[in-house]
Amino acid sequence: MERSIAMLFFLLSIAMFSVAFSRPAVADETMTWPNGARVAISLSYDDALESQLDNALPALNKHNIKGSFYLTLAHPSVHQRLSEWRAAAEAGHELGNHTIYHGCSRGKPDRDWVAPHLDLDVRSVADLVAEVIMANTVLHAIDGRDDRTFTPPCFDELTSGGNYVDAVAPMFVAVKSRDEGIPEGSIFLVGSVGFTGAELIHRVEEHSKDGVLLNILFHGVGGDHLATSPEAHEELLQFLAANRETYWIDTYLNIMTYVRDNGASN
Ligand SMILES: [Zn+2]
Repeated sequence: MERSIAMLFFLLSIAMFSVAFSRPAVADETMTWPNGARVAISLSYDDALESQLDNALPALNKHNIKGSFYLTLAHPSVHQRLSEWRAAAEAGHELGNHTIYHGCSRGKPDRDWVAPHLDLDVRSVADLVAEVIMANTVLHAIDGRDDRTFTPPCFDELTSGGNYVDAVAPMFVAVKSRDEGIPEGSIFLVGSVGFTGAELIHRVEEHSKDGVLLNILFHGVGGDHLATSPEAHEELLQFLAANRETYWIDTYLNIMTYVRDNGASN
């Protein structure tokens, strides 16, 4: 099952990376970031994967760069390596909510890997709201925090009874994948599978404009599904760490808390 999930996410990511889409304008003036940085960058790591603990987290810590880890709480790593996730939070990384079971729509193309009992197409809003609340409770038990952000699995939002992300959004500082509050020109880069470090850096540079927010999403790093190589990941981190005057790299929680408190009103 893990393998089929990997394959489908691979196809999803290829499709999405090629359209690194621009966000609509939500602010009428250029966003200014802390310490004069031109660009804010959120690095996120979805699905609570072992290779993130093995490879991504040590690399982030080495460079003192903070990321957001969106945990699928039913993933065995949460039970088996709980102390490591807790240590990540204590080191300043965000443990974000990615639900407990990673429910997605089975009705979309190439979604046979979605287990029927987790199919959003047949689940209710109330079911998903209960799951997301419980996920927040477990995350609080791990890191003691009340504020966090949410990434909807597969970016799917519709259940059999309507949009569940609308219902859970008020529980979070921000929902990754949604537009509210993020600066004009911001982009979302999904899937870095097979990219070299130079290609990742090029992606960052070509989208770096004053006041924008770049979201870069990873899954596996040197293992698991949709893997980015540790070398490419390391090269990107080295580049970002060497250019902190240009790039403010922080957790999505910290960035979106800043946007909430300092965003231009429109
Ligand atoms: Zn996911």
